[in-house]
Amino acid sequence: MTRTRIFKKTKDRFRKSMRRVVKDLSRRVLVYKQPIRQECPNCYYDKLTGRSTGKCRWTLEEAEQKQAEHELVYPGQIRYKWFRVGRCPICLGKGVLEVKRKKWVDCLVVWNPSDRYSNEITFTPAGTEGSTLVQLKTDIKYFDLFKNCEYVEVDGVECKISNPPIVRGLGNHTLLIVTGFTTDKPKDNSGEKLKEYS
Ligand SMILES: [Zn+2]
Repeated sequence: MTRTRIFKKTKDRFRKSMRRVVKDLSRRVLVYKQPIRQECPNCYYDKLTGRSTGKCRWTLEEAEQKQAEHELVYPGQIRYKWFRVGRCPICLGKGVLEVKRKKWVDCLVVWNPSDRYSNEITFTPAGTEGSTLVQLKTDIKYFDLFKNCEYVEVDGVECKISNPPIVRGLGNHTLLIVTGFTTDKPKDNSGEKLKEYS
């Protein structure tokens, strides 16, 4: 058997086992993208002040009609509500609505990665000393998602991303490594503590 073939076999085995590991052990992490800001559909936006003009776009009948149509597509979501003048009840006077966008991503999650992983953490940003680190390993297709995200939610804990994601591995068999930090503690731990002291 040639060297190349052995190498290929090893790589195949590595890829298969990595796939299995990622599949078996991964958890769902919620990634919050940058919110989209859109003009309020209910009032007129004032470009000069960057706020609502305090005037409704619709008559009472129009607003009711619009809302009824909207509810067919987005049950329970209120986007149209007539008001005479003053603070718009939809955007609360801001003139814009922020739409939160999020995506579930399967990741291998390691809280407080130990020393043997530390070469994968390139730096710890200033001001995060004493915070809890979390390391996520996932598919490299999520590079842009993690790079541009606002924050992530791991095991119910909000974490900021501490540096751009790192790509590690060989050829097609690469992994994306994301380091996050939080000053909160994972919920599992706090549950144990509560038990301990109650
Ligand atoms: Zn409004």
